[in-house]
Amino acid sequence: MIPVRRSLFAACCLLFLGVVSPLDAGEMKVIAVNVGVGDAIHIQTPSGKNYLIDGGDTSAITNFPALDDADQDFCPIVKYLLDNNIRTIDMMVITHDDGDHYKGLQAILGTKVTSGGANAFKVYSVVYASTTSDLTKLSEHPETTLVRVLSGIRFENVAALSGIWDTALTGLVLSPRTYTGSSSSNSGAVVMRIKYDQVSCLFTADAETADETTMMADYAASELSSTVLKVAHHGSRTGSSETFLNVVKPKVALISVAGNAYGLPDAEVVKRISDTGATILRTDQRGNVGIVTNGINYTISASANPVGIKGVSADPNVHVYPNPAPGKTNPASTKIVYDLTGLADSVKVSVLTPTGDLVREWIDGTTMQGSNYLTWDLKNGMGENVANGLYIVQVEVKVGAGTVYGHTKMAVLRK
Ligand SMILES: [Zn+2]
Repeated sequence: MIPVRRSLFAACCLLFLGVVSPLDAGEMKVIAVNVGVGDAIHIQTPSGKNYLIDGGDTSAITNFPALDDADQDFCPIVKYLLDNNIRTIDMMVITHDDGDHYKGLQAILGTKVTSGGANAFKVYSVVYASTTSDLTKLSEHPETTLVRVLSGIRFENVAALSGIWDTALTGLVLSPRTYTGSSSSNSGAVVMRIKYDQVSCLFTADAETADETTMMADYAASELSSTVLKVAHHGSRTGSSETFLNVVKPKVALISVAGNAYGLPDAEVVKRISDTGATILRTDQRGNVGIVTNGINYTISASANPVGIKGVSADPNVHVYPNPAPGKTNPASTKIVYDLTGLADSVKVSVLTPTGDLVREWIDGTTMQGSNYLTWDLKNGMGENVANGLYIVQVEVKVGAGTVYGHTKMAVLRK
């Protein structure tokens, strides 16, 4: 047998603005959509069906903007679907009742083309184990089949999903073992694994260590080991035990997380995952993240570039102000501003003379995504005023093994 060759292309074939590129026939796409706090997984199957596992959060729960509203503020998953021209959801899975998982699904069900008009989205099936979520909008969707699942159910054998389940795939529900009534507890959450030929994806919702132990008792390692792992509970230490990770052996780990919200992902969990050798992709750092696969090989997909690397130009935007106009003089200090497109590992800001001599240096510049600045008092490293003249401001940004530079010029003119 020919060994499976898994190819990892650097994420240079990036997808911008959250728009999914068209798939070749027979390809599957699995994307953790960047919904901020919450989980929303989009699976585009080899035959072109759209599945959602959870839908992230939304602030509204009853009134949603219609597509023709002048003042549109769609929740992130609705916006993602519209951006990608997806108006049909073949299968929608509600893993459990936490708002950051199911409320976006409610928004999909509730969005209309015009206020009071037709539904904007068709939803052919809703899959759940236990839910007390507010799904009143379902009554406005006569096309929807409700399917209740438990551990052990194979999607390809569910009669109600005939024509909805893609026959190129196999799918197994791994948790929960029993219905819990309300599933507001993370332990009641639906955990499932989808396999396309040699490539498998495990979706753990907010499962906890006890659930992982149960799954390892109920299923052979071959039913749990997966190419892609959607990391449990946004990288919280309530899950992702070392034993479980060693059974799953992921090649790619997707973490759906909003930058630093609730201290997630947990640093120890991130280390545990990276110790397995998996490539970690975080929605807060790389936007919509996941894989595209033909069932044998896969490529990594991300909608946002690493920090400071915008397409082919590797340049964090750097500017300084005030930068005196001719004939004007500087105030006592100036701001050095640099924009980062994501979290950086480190930032070094330097002021150089035009011939490259170092005047002043800051090693630990702010590494947060967005516009950052520091204030320069126009003094050199020894605390002395610098001479009048032209200076170069350089910002050096490191992310992983990559380094990018941004430069700008500024003048110092004192009376
Ligand atoms: Zn959650």
